[in-house]
Amino acid sequence: AASLGELDPDIAAAVGAELRRQQTTLEMIASENFAPAAVMEAQGSVLTNKYAEGYPGRRYYGGCEHVDVVERLAVDRVKALFGAEAANVQPHSGAQANAAAMAALLEPGDTILGLDLAHGGHLTHGMRLNFSGRLYNVVPYHVHKSDMRIDMDEVEQLALAHRPKMIVAGWSAYPQQLDFAAFRRIADEVGAYLLVDMAHFAGLVAAGLHPSPVPYADVVTTTTHKTLGGPRGGVILSRKEYAKKINSAVFPGQQGGPLEHVIAAKAVAFKIAASEDFRERQQRTLAGARALAGRLLADDVSESGATVLTGGTDVHLVLVDLRNSRLDGQQAEDRLHSIGITVNRNAVPFDPRPPMVSSGLRIGTPALATRGFGVGEFREVADIIARTLTAEELDEAEAALLRDRVTKLAEAFPLYPQLTKETA
Ligand code: PLP
Repeated sequence: AASLGELDPDIAAAVGAELRRQQTTLEMIASENFAPAAVMEAQGSVLTNKYAEGYPGRRYYGGCEHVDVVERLAVDRVKALFGAEAANVQPHSGAQANAAAMAALLEPGDTILGLDLAHGGHLTHGMRLNFSGRLYNVVPYHVHKSDMRIDMDEVEQLALAHRPKMIVAGWSAYPQQLDFAAFRRIADEVGAYLLVDMAHFAGLVAAGLHPSPVPYADVVTTTTHKTLGGPRGGVILSRKEYAKKINSAVFPGQQGGPLEHVIAAKAVAFKIAASEDFRERQQRTLAGARALAGRLLADDVSESGATVLTGGTDVHLVLVDLRNSRLDGQQAEDRLHSIGITVNRNAVPFDPRPPMVSSGLRIGTPALATRGFGVGEFREVADIIARTLTAEELDEAEAALLRDRVTKLAEAFPLYPQLTKETA
């Protein structure tokens, strides 16, 4: 019956320190968000104790009557949220969802097309060391050098030349919407499956602020913790005809017992994502990203050599192009970290610097929108970022002024106040 603090003060101290880090800094990693207390309550519940291999009504363990209720609710809610015919809510993560979706429809050795990792794709879309690159014959497609947008002509040429069994559309670092209809047309031309990985923009789709891939794709995978704002995890949506194969690829194909506590938390997140408040939050997310792009396109930033990839954003993130800047990605990430803003450096397409250093920054607005930021606050953050990236040398006096501005914003939007009391 001992509390975490009593039983394991080392872990409790690290958790407390992480809470304070989240509260006192500005989180702008594009793939992160703050799960609401109700989501964390579900995830921290007794459901963590339950084995439930199988699916609702067809389990390999007794005592599943309550977790069946939970999993059915999660499935029904996510189907309704995205208008999908079938859903599997068991994948432990986005990578697991992609592994299972591919295993359901492909054989090892089959050819797939995916966006090159160096051009914004995800590891699971065919990176050499990933399961996807090891199991399948990967043909990467790219963005166009002139406008940094996905080169659909190349996608079509590669599809015609290589006759892939699957085309993967989706990204981890790309600031524009995809042309799902064009991907569908090309997939149909060569008889390929179309898998859309909407992990990054699922929250925008749920809110109706981004085109939905569901009417176009055979399979849609997503994570639940990015713009969707739920617990860490994955989901596979599909047409009914693939549901059986996909269920079997998840369990027993890829996983054992499902994490029913996480599935409960996913169900809560889907309920929230259907609300008007959620839609309003996604609107602020988009407005914030546009404000950030606008500020980073101003003259003082251009003169420093930094610019915005594709000249703007249609989604929840901005990619800063530092190829002509004195600062590399690592230095820019470190500077922002030193004043309390967390982002990640990112390779940009055609990056002359090595991946560990890179020439880009990926900056996202979902977490701060969840915290309550509106466009006014995002303009202030954008100005802080612009000044940090353009300063000749960020001396201590200047860093202290910028850090003060960050602290004021963080203090104006308290995060998890209830948890502060509990860990005090
Ligand atoms: N798909 C895309 C497009 C992603 O960006 C990510 C995560 O960054 C994933 C899948 C994998 O998700 P996870 O980290 O939950 O395995």
